[in-house]
Parts: sequence; structure tokens; C-alpha cells
Amino acid sequence: MEALPDIAPLPAGASRSRCMARVPLGCVFYLTTRCQQRCAHCWLECQPDQGADMDPAMFSEIVRRAAAQGLLRVVTLTGGEPFIDPDRLLECIRELLAGHGVLEIFIPTNGLWVLADDYRGLAEELAFIGQFVPYELRIAWSMNRWNLKQLGRNARPVAQRWRELEHRFPQVFRRRTLEREDLQSLARILSLILHFEMGNNVLLESLLRSATRFLQKKNRLYDLERRFFHFMSELMRAPSKQEQKRAFQKMREELSSSAVLAGTQALLQTFDLEAWLDAKIKGLSFATAVRMKWNERQKK
Ligand code: SF4
Repeated sequence: MEALPDIAPLPAGASRSRCMARVPLGCVFYLTTRCQQRCAHCWLECQPDQGADMDPAMFSEIVRRAAAQGLLRVVTLTGGEPFIDPDRLLECIRELLAGHGVLEIFIPTNGLWVLADDYRGLAEELAFIGQFVPYELRIAWSMNRWNLKQLGRNARPVAQRWRELEHRFPQVFRRRTLEREDLQSLARILSLILHFEMGNNVLLESLLRSATRFLQKKNRLYDLERRFFHFMSELMRAPSKQEQKRAFQKMREELSSSAVLAGTQALLQTFDLEAWLDAKIKGLSFATAVRMKWNERQKK
């Protein structure tokens, strides 16, 4: 097996000192290519009764090598359907938690495993193991329109059981409801942040105008987007560093309030807005702010 790289390569032409986060923080393990579904968009072309599992010895070797280089902070266990073999999935989670510096484990699922008779026992075990994951163990059912259609008559019982699990173990089980509109919002927020970082103020103004038009036409509107776009326009009007810092602090406080967080988890799961705001307030790099946040959570 090839040696793992020490750091990710820099983008062409980027200066090392300006690159925000050049050290990879995590790994994605494709535990299997088996799945009960046959989605047209599946890039692994998974189909029922087909596919193969990752060799346990290979999994252990990658875990060992990646951990030795500090690359296992955030781990995704996916497939295929990672719950197709629940015992193997539990083994993998336990192995990851055996002193390899893992802070967060994310497991996306098509949700079908909750139809098994013993789903409650498995859920309880996962919730128990979740207590030993320093940042979080997050198991997310992709509940978008496409997947519900694929589930057919199973959609209702899966939704009912998933609601039960979310209610009993909210720290572990979540629905992932990232719809097309959410992705468009996220893309706009990220684009504004990138252009702000690059100092493209002229372009920012036109992006904000377009964002305002987008909000007027949007079917589902979360408070976070409205407040973020308002914050960006305040930021652009703030002439001094001190006023900009006040704008960052105000946005940070608003983000912390539960009212803002309601219904916005899908957006915030994809980009750590809180860490970006902290970095700006404290004058740190984004990577340092993320690292400090994780270190603090680890101490708790
Ligand atoms: S549920 Fe996921 S892994 Fe399974 S076929 Fe669909 S896209 Fe592929």
C-alpha cells in the first residue's frame, strides 16, 4: 500500500501561507457497495443482491496509517448502504474509537434498516456508543423527495420509526432534508464568503442584489439566510475594522440563538459558519478556529 501523503497538495498557484486549510481532517470509508435500493442517480450503480464489502484487514490498515498521521478527526462511513451489515458497522465504529483521535463520525443511510424487527436494539447500541464520540456520532436518513419515492410503501413506516428514534436519541439520529433550494442557499452563502475573503467588493454588491431577488422567489425561507444576507450588506457598509468586527459579533450572537438554528441544521452541517465568524472576531485563520472548537469540545 502506498504511503499516505503528509498534507494535501496546494491548489495551483496558491501561496502556502494564504491557504486556509491544507491539512485533510478526515476520511470517507466506503464500507460496501451493497444496497437494497436501485437509485438511478447512484454513482456506484448499487443494486439489490450485488456488490462487495471492504476487506476488514484493509479497513484496519487504513485506520492505523491515517490515524498515525492525524487524518482521522472526521470520519464518514458510507456505501452502498452502510447498515446492510449492522454488526460489521458496529465493529468499524468501535475500531475507530479505539484511541485513533476520531472526533466525529457521520453515517448517511437510506433508512431502510429501521424496518428490521430489532431496530430498537441497534439504535440503543448506537446511541450508547455515541456517548464515546467526542464531537458527535451523527446518523442521517436522506429524506428528500427522491428517496421517499424510492421507498414506496415503506416510506410511511420508515418515517414513523425514524421519528421515534429522533425523539428518543436526538443527539444521534437526524433526518437530512437538504433540498435543491437549500443547496442554492448554501451555494450563495459560500459564494458571498469566498468573495468577501478575496476582497471582491464590487462583485459582492451584485451578488447580494441577486441573493435578495432569490429570497423573494424562494418557497422555503429560513431565518438564517435572511439574517446572513442582511449581515453581509452591513459588513460591506462598515468602513472600519472595528465596525466590521461588531457586525461579525452580532451575526455570531444571532447564530447562537435557537430561533435562528431552527430548521437550518442542513445548511450548517455543510459549512461551519460559527467557526468562520469566530475566526473573524478573534483574528484567526479558519482552520485554527475549527481546531480550537474541536479541542474545546473534546475537553468537555
Ligand atoms: S440508496 Fe444510496 S447507495 Fe443505495 S442505490 Fe440509492 S444512492 Fe445508491
